[in-house]
Amino acid sequence: MEWAGNDPEFRVKLLRFVDVLPALRTSAAVADHVRQYFRDESPLPVRMGSAMAGAGPFRPVLSRVVRQGVFAMSGRFIAGATPREALPRLRELGRQGTAYTIDLLGEATLSEAEADAYGARYLELMEVLARDSVDSAAPREIRQPNVSLKLSAFTARFEPAAPRATSEAVRRRLLPLLVGARALGIFVNIDMEQFRFKDLSHTIAEDALTTGELRDWDGAGIVVQAYLRSAEDDVRRLRSLAEQRGAPLTIRLVKGAYWDEEVIVAGQEGHPVPVFEAKSATDASYERCSELLAAAYPALRPAFGTHNPRSIAQAMVRCEAAGIPREDIEFQFLFGMAEGLRKAVAGMGYRTRVYVPAGEIIPGMAYLVRRLLENTSNESWFMHRHEEGDAGMALAPPAAAEEVQRSASEAFANHPAAEFHLPGPRREMEAALAAARKRFGSHYPLLINGAEVQTQGEDGVRCPSEPATVMGLVARAGAEQVEQAVEAARAGFPGWRDRTAAERATVLRRAATMLDRRRFDFAATMVFESAKPWREADADVCEAIDYLCYYADEAERLAGGQPLVEPPGETNTCLYEARGVAAVIAPWNFPLAIIAGMSSAALAAGCAAILKPAAQSPVVASMLVRLLQEAGVPGGVAQYLPGPGSETGQALVEHPGVDVIAFTGSNAVGLRIMETAAKVRPGQRNVKRVIAEMGGKNAIIVDDDADLDQAVAGVAASAFGYAGQKCSACSRVIVIGSAYEEFRSRLAAAVESLVVGPSEDPYTFVPPVISAEARGKIESYIDIGLAEGRLVARGPAGEGGHYVTPHVFEGVPVDSRLAREEVFGPVLAMFRAGSFEEALALALDSPFALTGGVFSRNPRHIALARRGFRTGNLYINRGITGAKVGRQPFGGFAMSGAGDKAGGRDYLQQFMFARVITENTVRRGFAG
Ligand code: NAD
Repeated sequence: MEWAGNDPEFRVKLLRFVDVLPALRTSAAVADHVRQYFRDESPLPVRMGSAMAGAGPFRPVLSRVVRQGVFAMSGRFIAGATPREALPRLRELGRQGTAYTIDLLGEATLSEAEADAYGARYLELMEVLARDSVDSAAPREIRQPNVSLKLSAFTARFEPAAPRATSEAVRRRLLPLLVGARALGIFVNIDMEQFRFKDLSHTIAEDALTTGELRDWDGAGIVVQAYLRSAEDDVRRLRSLAEQRGAPLTIRLVKGAYWDEEVIVAGQEGHPVPVFEAKSATDASYERCSELLAAAYPALRPAFGTHNPRSIAQAMVRCEAAGIPREDIEFQFLFGMAEGLRKAVAGMGYRTRVYVPAGEIIPGMAYLVRRLLENTSNESWFMHRHEEGDAGMALAPPAAAEEVQRSASEAFANHPAAEFHLPGPRREMEAALAAARKRFGSHYPLLINGAEVQTQGEDGVRCPSEPATVMGLVARAGAEQVEQAVEAARAGFPGWRDRTAAERATVLRRAATMLDRRRFDFAATMVFESAKPWREADADVCEAIDYLCYYADEAERLAGGQPLVEPPGETNTCLYEARGVAAVIAPWNFPLAIIAGMSSAALAAGCAAILKPAAQSPVVASMLVRLLQEAGVPGGVAQYLPGPGSETGQALVEHPGVDVIAFTGSNAVGLRIMETAAKVRPGQRNVKRVIAEMGGKNAIIVDDDADLDQAVAGVAASAFGYAGQKCSACSRVIVIGSAYEEFRSRLAAAVESLVVGPSEDPYTFVPPVISAEARGKIESYIDIGLAEGRLVARGPAGEGGHYVTPHVFEGVPVDSRLAREEVFGPVLAMFRAGSFEEALALALDSPFALTGGVFSRNPRHIALARRGFRTGNLYINRGITGAKVGRQPFGGFAMSGAGDKAGGRDYLQQFMFARVITENTVRRGFAG
């Protein structure tokens, strides 16, 4: 602990080691990890220990010593493994005149069964505490049992986009608990978690605390996090809740425990940072909130959770000025910390309360450590011996709330996802869905050379969630229209090619801006047309915007050519120039992003693009072509040509006037296109270039030391998000050795808890599949699983649309069709491996090489995977879907594709030829 306090690098290693320790099931595993984590640059005795770990006979001893060490350390921070074990520590606090609130540590809730277990643990806790409080000799306000709980643990699907449905799911377990607490005289405090859950948590708390039985209960409290920019509004909102109820609420004012995570997540998502970035701004916010709290008494009762002497002193002064009696004010401290300060505050006649974590010691310590890792400001845990510090410093006023100014960067950044945790974007999406419904039944003609072209035949597009509904009637291009479109494209091409890259880029950026403005209309269309759930549909729009911007940047970069060697008297120039007419043949599963990506690359490069969407998703593609034209792409340069693949698609591929085919879709169609395109036809000028991105059969390896909270959630999301209809989806999971049983049972429970439903409902996680035909095909693989393997789990069934029930199998032979072929639906096969090497061999035993994943905390295994897990995109310790433009250039090799990477630097050149021009500038020995 001392070393950790002084050496930040060692501290991170130690925390990470404590984090992985509960997953190390043998002494060999402990020894191996000690060696790997602490071999280099650790304090000498630790290095010696890690060297000893190499020798077999020492391992059991080492393992015992390590566990005892962590056990001893945890005694400082965790009151006991069970509520009963924690009692002596609570009584001890009571004897010192200090109250407590108890928080049960535990794993993340991934299934309804785990949510039930969480509720049951709290019920048991409350019963134990209620019995004990009767015995205790401490005064009433000290001995009243007090528990703290987290709302996200009460359901497997805590979805801020769907506050009503989530609130109902939580309420089923929360309400009996609150009613029971009231009956037992127990105080319940609701903790706050990440910002994206804040409004949802408020809604749930409001719903629960305004129900009849609890309306006048004064035994509930809620946390306000001062580091949030919204903190003052949060206090005001809670004040009006308390006033409206007519019963007081206790507010625990804290600074906030997820600062690092909030900043990282906002940075990754491109969202505004919800917390103050300067520590002093948080301190200032704390003081403003303290004032608001003091002013809101008695509707709100203040409880100040801080170890900062100045914040404490300021709160005391404000409360005193407001005339709040001392017995109605509380100061809270973390268990095992700041004891001197707590005693001083208690000595002044204030009630003090300690926040006490309880839970199984070693895993509990890991959960605590995870919280510490999430929040470096908690490093003081390691420094608590020096808590007295410099009193002068500690009492200095917070510096002016100066914000860290981030420099405006010109570089490409991914477009931010809609913030569905806020009411504004939710309302916009709801309005867009209603408007999309009004457009049902519209006609979508071809767009050739800027003109609408009706065709004899039309295809009806139906909604997978409600197959009786015809969403749109779409024209079908035949041979004649293909001819017209290619002719128009050939005519439009030279003018577009000869514009500067900057001019084309400007048009594409304008299209991106327009798409952003209409983002919810596009997303709503996909919700109905392709049964994309809200977040997936929104992500599709963001990805399309990213492609437009990224390829615009790329075109400008490539306009500079490439640097060439130039000896004296010679100039060499390399120019990239568009190949010609591009046929863009797209799949339905990313109905906007992929077609927008392929066509914006073609357009940015200077090609004319003919967009042939999949038969299942032509409506959103029609909207895209119109938008491109509105943005300034000439009518002959972006055309819309829907129709059946085997007719319209095939005709485009064969046409001698087509120079590039950008295809994304299945392996069978992709290979066939390559073959067809290779044949030179009369009148053809160029050798056709085929860009083909195809299917996958992707595996995730779960190591025996993996964090199962993370692995189960990551596998379930990768396998069942959008009903498994992603080329990147996980369809095989390979679990190593001792992790198998626990992973299997947690995954099974998680799959049984998946929310299956219509895509329009924001609570849905697994929507119907795209068509009745797809459903039939996927179900034939389920039959294979039932015949050749054992069923591990079956998810809930849907009703009305083309639903396929999620399935997980184990024990299928490795050469089974289920194990080798792309299923493209919510079906997962589990395999067991004895070692990491075996798991890797199994993962690679596939004709495809698209995506792959590894969950591991073993540095050697992670290094092995980086070197040898050969797939187009490998993801370590996260899900394997959701590649972002410019961050994870996407595409595979082997039978998954020709190695082209969309959204990366290598992509645009495929739509271009390079020309090199050399000029000799020497005139009779004189170089000008
Ligand atoms: P698909 O191959 O059936 O169809 C793709 C496109 O090809 C459609 O527009 C279709 O009309 C057209 N097409 C069909 N036959 C054709 C022919 N003979 N000539 C020319 N065009 C023809 O694929 P899908 O069902 O739309 O999409 C799902 C597949 O796409 C999956 O295999 C998935 O893995 C793959 N996919 C790959 C990626 C990737 O980036 N690697 C991304 C998304 C989807």
